[in-house]
Amino acid sequence: MVTQAFFELLKQFFKDPVTNRFPVTHAPSSIHGTLKAVEAGKAKINPPVEIPPGFRGKILYDRDACIGCQMCLKVCPSETIEYIKEDRKVKFYMSRCTFCALCTEICPKKCIRMSDTFIMANTDKYGEDMIVTDSGPFVEQEKKEKEKEEARKPSPPPEKKAPPKPAPKPQTKKKGPEPTPKEVQKEKVPGPAVGAPQNKEVPAKRAGTV
Ligand code: SF4
Ligand code: SF4
Repeated sequence: MVTQAFFELLKQFFKDPVTNRFPVTHAPSSIHGTLKAVEAGKAKINPPVEIPPGFRGKILYDRDACIGCQMCLKVCPSETIEYIKEDRKVKFYMSRCTFCALCTEICPKKCIRMSDTFIMANTDKYGEDMIVTDSGPFVEQEKKEKEKEEARKPSPPPEKKAPPKPAPKPQTKKKGPEPTPKEVQKEKVPGPAVGAPQNKEVPAKRAGTV
């Protein structure tokens, strides 16, 4: 057990990390200085790691599809969702969200989803980016997602030509079982000579003769 844990630990030293250094490879002394350097083209931001399927990021809300049933408000553990009585719609304060996805499960119209957006750092928690009021119809979202997926797919490899079929082998006669010595002898015995008298009766052996 201890040996197994040790080997597992050792393996981790040689594995690539599942995260990357974000936003830049070397930790900056000042984030403002780094962002300025990025703006000036002197530093490059590392791209985030690939988002795994089922990732729970920023909320998406299809306002038109919402029927104002308030089921999402009932399950939300952090009071992220506010009900707007006049419109019979809702809005989401992302600074409070725990990304539990309970609202997406309970919604009868399936008009709440979790996106793959996770960069939400903001100095104003009530800023425009931090409140979700309408993400547009999900039909549009699905279109965009499909396009993204298609773009991510690697292009198919060129079709391989089938190798030429080998020429058929000449058929050889199947070898039967080896002939017995008796059969070999029979084959050697010559038939009656041409012109020899046919049906010559062989005289029966007389009784008593040797
Ligand atoms: S994901 Fe969870 S915390 Fe966030 S709005 Fe939905 S129910 Fe509330
Ligand atoms: S559960 Fe869905 S339909 Fe009901 S209010 Fe919330 S978002 Fe709208």
